[in-house]
Amino acid sequence: MARIVMKFGGTSVADLDRIRNVARHVKREVDAGHDVAVVVSAMAGKTNELVGWTRGASAMHDAREYDAVVASGEQVTSGLLAITLQDMGVNARSWQGWQIPIRTDSAHGAARILEIDGSDLIRRFGEGQVAVVAGFQGLGPDNRIATLGRGGSDTSAVAIAAAVKADRCDIYTDVDGVYTTDPRIEPKARRMKKIAFEEMLEMASLGAKVLQVRSVELAMVHKVRTFVRSSFEDPDAPGMDDFANPPGTLICDEDEIVEQEVVTGIAYAKDEAQISLRRLADRPGVSAAIFGPLAEAHINVDMIVQNISEDGSRTDMTFTVPTGDLDKALTVLDAAKPAIGFDAVQSEPGLVKVSVIGIGMRSHAGVAATAFRALAEKGINIKAITTSEIKISILIDSPYAELAVRTLHSVYGLDKS
Ligand code: ADP
Ligand code: ASP
Ligand code: MG
Repeated sequence: MARIVMKFGGTSVADLDRIRNVARHVKREVDAGHDVAVVVSAMAGKTNELVGWTRGASAMHDAREYDAVVASGEQVTSGLLAITLQDMGVNARSWQGWQIPIRTDSAHGAARILEIDGSDLIRRFGEGQVAVVAGFQGLGPDNRIATLGRGGSDTSAVAIAAAVKADRCDIYTDVDGVYTTDPRIEPKARRMKKIAFEEMLEMASLGAKVLQVRSVELAMVHKVRTFVRSSFEDPDAPGMDDFANPPGTLICDEDEIVEQEVVTGIAYAKDEAQISLRRLADRPGVSAAIFGPLAEAHINVDMIVQNISEDGSRTDMTFTVPTGDLDKALTVLDAAKPAIGFDAVQSEPGLVKVSVIGIGMRSHAGVAATAFRALAEKGINIKAITTSEIKISILIDSPYAELAVRTLHSVYGLDKS
């Protein structure tokens, strides 16, 4: 017998029929004799609605009250799933983050899990009880509800799996695994049987929202055996209960992957904004003068490109921030203008970052050149580029996003044959 954490996302619990279907997946594992904890998201669209209400109430709302509101979606689904399981004869009980408790830091709205006391859950496993835990939420140091950032139920699931020493963490969603790119953009995308932690981390940070970034970090650090699989398949179809080899994608160590491709996936992130500061003084400390105040304002700066100055005294600096933070960034830069010293600022919202990811790039030259050539042939203009050992990111205009994803997917041979 084993211990399994099963997580179900918003579309999987979108209404009572789907919750009933989820309960059948849970019952299958319970009937097989496993200890089971379930983590649920809010019903699809619910969190967006709740976020909208907090914004409507006040644009400058208190983050603690935002959390009080947006955490409520998961309270509903955890209770409903517990009721449905009980109705099927499964001994189940719902748990809110504060009841376990799942302790977080004080960053309301984007809190990190610090500690989970798994002892009560483990004791209840001993009594044959299924725990249905509200995802996305925990308890901050101020004893108030804190939420984990959008997509945070994935992180709740992996953290609980680590805390109760689960043998497996299954992330059930509306696709049947991790694909070479978003299958909704490129129907030729292929499902991967396995993907390395590091690649999944890059895919997630560069926009593939199938897993929250932090959940992949936790799975990597705590060595949680994590699968991404579909909740929409028949819960009792053959092979669904295959313990060692369930249908879906396993996120695992690099050395578990036998045939490593050079490029494993393409990710994209919408809503990037570009800011250019023109004719800056080219002197030590200028970067600190720009990026210090932006960091203090909690603005995430991503791609940074500094031009070589022609005359040794003046240069240009271009960087990206999320479009949602653009106005705030421009206000911060305006206030810091005397300290930075620049002539003009230009900005452009609504750009897209497309990224090519693969561990195999470490030992292969020419991967970037292939991307640039392929995009040029389609007439796609590149606005900025950043690279690391295992990824290349390219900033482009948003109307070209889908074309760029498909072009890169095909040029690296990722299309299914
Ligand atoms: P959930 O509500 O279950 O948490 P999400 O919407 O957060 O589901 O994540 C699943 C979605 O992620 C899929 O519907 C798919 O469109 C998207 N996605 C993006 N990139 C990928 C990828 N490489 N592989 C699989 N799904 C992806
Ligand atoms: N319901 C939350 C969200 O929409 C958490 C999650 O779905 O993982 O972001
Ligand atoms: Mg999600």
